[in-house]
Amino acid sequence: MPGEAADSYAERVAAANNLAAATLPSDPSLRSVGRVRHAAARNTPVQATSPRRQGWDPGAITQACAACLATDGAWRHAWYDPMVTVCLTHGCYLITDCPGRRRSVKDTQHRPLRPAGTGTLCDNALSVGLGPRCDTDLAQLPPTPAPDEVLEQQARAQQSGTGPVMVLGQPTTVASYRDTVRNMAVLLLHINTASPDPPARFDLREQEWGTRRWWLHPPRDPITRAAVFAVADRIVFAASLDDAAAVFMPWFDAIPPASAGRVSWAADHTHADPTLTRILLAASTPRQRLSHRLPHELCLRLRPEWIPQRLPAQLSPLVDGCGLSAASARGFASLCLAKAQAGTGSWADAATLLELPGPIGVDLARTSSAHLTIGTDAWIDRLQQVGRQLAIERVDYRARESVVRGLGRAALNDLLHALQAARPGTRASSRDLIWRWVWDHWAAGHHAAAPPVVITTRRFLARYTQFAGALQPHHERALVTATDQITRGTPDSS
Ligand SMILES: [Zn+2]
Ligand SMILES: [Zn+2]
Repeated sequence: MPGEAADSYAERVAAANNLAAATLPSDPSLRSVGRVRHAAARNTPVQATSPRRQGWDPGAITQACAACLATDGAWRHAWYDPMVTVCLTHGCYLITDCPGRRRSVKDTQHRPLRPAGTGTLCDNALSVGLGPRCDTDLAQLPPTPAPDEVLEQQARAQQSGTGPVMVLGQPTTVASYRDTVRNMAVLLLHINTASPDPPARFDLREQEWGTRRWWLHPPRDPITRAAVFAVADRIVFAASLDDAAAVFMPWFDAIPPASAGRVSWAADHTHADPTLTRILLAASTPRQRLSHRLPHELCLRLRPEWIPQRLPAQLSPLVDGCGLSAASARGFASLCLAKAQAGTGSWADAATLLELPGPIGVDLARTSSAHLTIGTDAWIDRLQQVGRQLAIERVDYRARESVVRGLGRAALNDLLHALQAARPGTRASSRDLIWRWVWDHWAAGHHAAAPPVVITTRRFLARYTQFAGALQPHHERALVTATDQITRGTPDSS
């Protein structure tokens, strides 16, 4: 069967010849489970390979696609490969555990072949010796669909033949793409466990938290492994070295301070192949940094009050499609514009310029630069356009923020009545929702700085999401007009 693992094939041969696999003669070549799976993963004869102890050994993690097993019962050799996390035929994650006892599938500790031979039953021993065996049918397990980003990464990693795959914008072989992704994944895992505050937390199992040697064992859970590969792939598959460095930068910054420097810490915690070394060196160079480039390259002077805490919705298309959620993109764009203004030092200072707490700026900058999927040049171009627009509009957002913060009961009643006139069903209990809406949409405020009176419990947020989603454009216009009327006399532009 195409793609079938050698041990799966052997099980079928044994079954066809009425041989119980448990009683197979002790052929020395079949003695070690590791050797058999190592060979099965590479689809090479057992004798030809020696299981070199290099880490991430093929077969160290056993996994399976339930849907494939349901189709033909054959185990694929690709499933023994720890770089493989999904079935590309079925678009779902592989399974590593039999849910019956949360044990690894094919947990046949001392025998390369399962005693029951072929079939889709789990067949793990439930006790020592020739006792009862697990009868969970693996083919019946529900598949977990994998997102596009993961499937695209896996399509690159699972290519047979010799590529080419693009690495840093250059065509290269599948083998060297896989090496760099693996080495980068090992480094990201080390940063993840060593840093108190990494850009993303991988969902590791409890016993994996203390892992000090990620180069030996990858995380077992395929969804976690896929998440690590997705980040590594975003870095390695970036269109250029600069772009890769920009995506990797927040991870580089999260490396714990080491006396010999972050680059050598990284080199101590993974195998630094030539590509990975280039990315490391680029990330350590200050002139590549967005934070360094913004004040020099965004030649646009804006008064701080013209920059909203978060771009208003109508400017959102200018920052769409760059890998961030709409809310993060709007917040990050504002923060970058603040950062570009003369006199602003750190990301925390940029946040303060927008009257936001400093730590919010630091967090937003770090998570957003980690997830930007467009290059630094393209991002600065977008900011240039946004800035030009803000300079034309000249709205004093600081004044708007203080107006909304100071809205009294009478003013909120006026807003309520204006909305009720446009939308008769609106309840009197919607005042707090209206208040928050005006903060978000008219003052373009950040939720973290919203008026303290506005409660932000989960229940409130659920109500608010429903309320805001149900407003039609003419309801929104009514609210904006009414807010403008209330604040007439407040200088709104300068
Ligand atoms: Zn499948
Ligand atoms: Zn089982």
